[in-house]
Amino acid sequence: MNTTKDQLNSCGLKATPQRLSLINLLQKHGHLSIDAIYDYLKPNAPSLSLSTVYNNLSALSQKGFVRQVAISGSRQVYELARSEHAHLVCESCGSICDLAVDLDRVISAAALPEGARIDRSDLIFSGLCPVCAQKREARSECTATEGACASF
Ligand SMILES: [Zn+2]
Ligand SMILES: [Zn+2]
Repeated sequence: MNTTKDQLNSCGLKATPQRLSLINLLQKHGHLSIDAIYDYLKPNAPSLSLSTVYNNLSALSQKGFVRQVAISGSRQVYELARSEHAHLVCESCGSICDLAVDLDRVISAAALPEGARIDRSDLIFSGLCPVCAQKREARSECTATEGACASF
């Protein structure tokens, strides 16, 4: 079986405990900002610095293990690189959902200027996650009832 360690080694990266726990974290949480990653790792590695985390993340992303996603403004998250997908960012709680999208189809449907080419894409949708959408719906039902009462 190809372990994470083997995969790292075959890319010429040393499988340090910190890199392995970084990959573990991303496997578990999906998308994390560098600060969140640092907060998770810090209790077990008191001497850890943010720049070490950053250096490890950039080594991993250079080798295609990890991908950086620019969410909005200055918000950047990291995730394990896998098949292309788009993201839905919840405007209420900030959670990030993965969306399966055929990006090749999107790209081929795009009106690209002649001679241009696309190398990578960060497709971000904003809206509400299922939990927040449900809360919002419950709340608007409430207002509807209130409204109905007030009109009596
Ligand atoms: Zn939400
Ligand atoms: Zn994702």
